[in-house]
Amino acid sequence: MFKWFIDLVFPYRCIVCGKYLNHEYFCRSCFNSLPIKKQNECIGCQRPTPLGKTCTFCRDSYAVDQLLVASDFKNPAVASTIKLFKYHFLHDLAQPLSQLSFKYLDHLAKRDHFSMAQNNPLLVPVPLHKKREYWRGFNQAELLARLIARHYRLDIGEGLVRSVDSIPQAKLENRPKRLLNVQGLYKCKKPEVFKDRHVILVDDVCTTGATLNECARVLKDAGAVSVIALAIARG
Ligand SMILES: [Zn+2]
Ligand SMILES: [Zn+2]
Repeated sequence: MFKWFIDLVFPYRCIVCGKYLNHEYFCRSCFNSLPIKKQNECIGCQRPTPLGKTCTFCRDSYAVDQLLVASDFKNPAVASTIKLFKYHFLHDLAQPLSQLSFKYLDHLAKRDHFSMAQNNPLLVPVPLHKKREYWRGFNQAELLARLIARHYRLDIGEGLVRSVDSIPQAKLENRPKRLLNVQGLYKCKKPEVFKDRHVILVDDVCTTGATLNECARVLKDAGAVSVIALAIARG
């Protein structure tokens, strides 16, 4: 429904250098210049940890076992791509953003021997409330999860849903408010899907980690063994 409008306002031009392109938003050289994150950190205290594993101090309060963040929100090109993707309905940007995550994951594979295929995980997108998904036309986390699943030949785990439409997390300024805001928001419609499975939870942006953590808690209640959270950037 927004397609004609998007083509009008956002013709295909490179987001960074403005070069006109054919059905793409990045020219090759600008895409190659996008940074990937080299240092991983704990989801809770944000201190550097190997492969983003949740540190011993945060382990009791976080259900996410490991946080992988592909790139850096401080990079203006990355930040504007995510904003255009999320708030301006440019769903085509799922393509370059997922490719950025492949570049990051390839780097982890080479440097740290991390493997996406290990334990045959299910990819699970952070769900959006149906009302908001309808209004936006797509769930940005789901588009990313589908492209990542296809690339690594993994399955999508369906059944995690968002039950109540709360205030969007981006509108709440502090962490205690964000933590309270997500409690009871997510539920698992098909717990059998996640029983004894390893999960990679996918979202576009991780901020305090409250949303990812609440989803991970629900998935573990449903029987998931471990939950790795994968985000494009931490904002
Ligand atoms: Zn360019
Ligand atoms: Zn920590």
